[in-house]
Amino acid sequence: MEAIVYLNGEYLPASQAKVSVFDHSFLYGDGCFETIIVRQGRPFRLDEHVTRLFRSATVLRIRIPLTPEALAAAVLETVRRNGFQDAYTRITLSRGEGYASSDPRLAEKATLVIIAYDLGGHPAERFTSKGPGMRCIIASTRRTPPVCVEPRLKANNYLNQIFARMEAVSAGVDDAIMLDIANFVTETPSRNIFVVRDGKLLTPRAHNVLNGITREVVMDLAQKNGWPVAEADLTAYDLYTADEVLTTSTAGGIKAIVEVDGRPIGNGQRGPITRALGEQYEAMLVS
Ligand code: PMP
Repeated sequence: MEAIVYLNGEYLPASQAKVSVFDHSFLYGDGCFETIIVRQGRPFRLDEHVTRLFRSATVLRIRIPLTPEALAAAVLETVRRNGFQDAYTRITLSRGEGYASSDPRLAEKATLVIIAYDLGGHPAERFTSKGPGMRCIIASTRRTPPVCVEPRLKANNYLNQIFARMEAVSAGVDDAIMLDIANFVTETPSRNIFVVRDGKLLTPRAHNVLNGITREVVMDLAQKNGWPVAEADLTAYDLYTADEVLTTSTAGGIKAIVEVDGRPIGNGQRGPITRALGEQYEAMLVS
């Protein structure tokens, strides 16, 4: 069966869901997006994702042509029409069709797209690490500083992160950790990072990274388990010498990083806190 896509108010077979070659997200990456996971027919933290999209759109001054409630309903309807129980869904918002000029005034009507993939069939799955956790490098590409592009804005332009990801591919590892221009740890191209040391969790400060929804979930879970959690300025030293390092994201869940720049983290296996958080998060997804 052909996938069904939501495009500007219509549910269309994927082959008929066309976006203009003059669309400003295609021409300039001008827009924002969200990825939401659905398990057993239920979306995880859908309202938080919709709120974050509306915030990104506010910053970009793009008007979303739906209420938050109607947008959430359209996500669910897209999943339903595709017949998925477990799915990745993605909302993409573009400034819309305009001209080959980055002047935002030339694109007056936003383009809104919702797509859904079967969770088991995501093409990126074939690249996921098969070992006890992810092997990473620290990328030479620095995370764009917040004075240039605000990292909490989940923008359609991921070039900064794609450069880091290309470094990971060249190095033959699973992912790349990006530092900021002051040498502090930020995030990987698509995941937030936590360091575990002496039973405490530390994570880079929110102003320097995407304010991940899974990051928030892990901070809550850690507190419920009685593990102190704090935001901190972390360097490569803190990664290399951690007891555990873990990453969080909607698409990837909670994953251990077991090696950074050739140094095993802890004993090189997924640690007990990462395992416990992963199990508790999995239980939340299906509860
Ligand atoms: N950082 C970046 C740059 C991301 O793209 C993502 C994925 N959305 C994350 C962190 C993780 O955020 P979340 O838990 O909201 O998926």
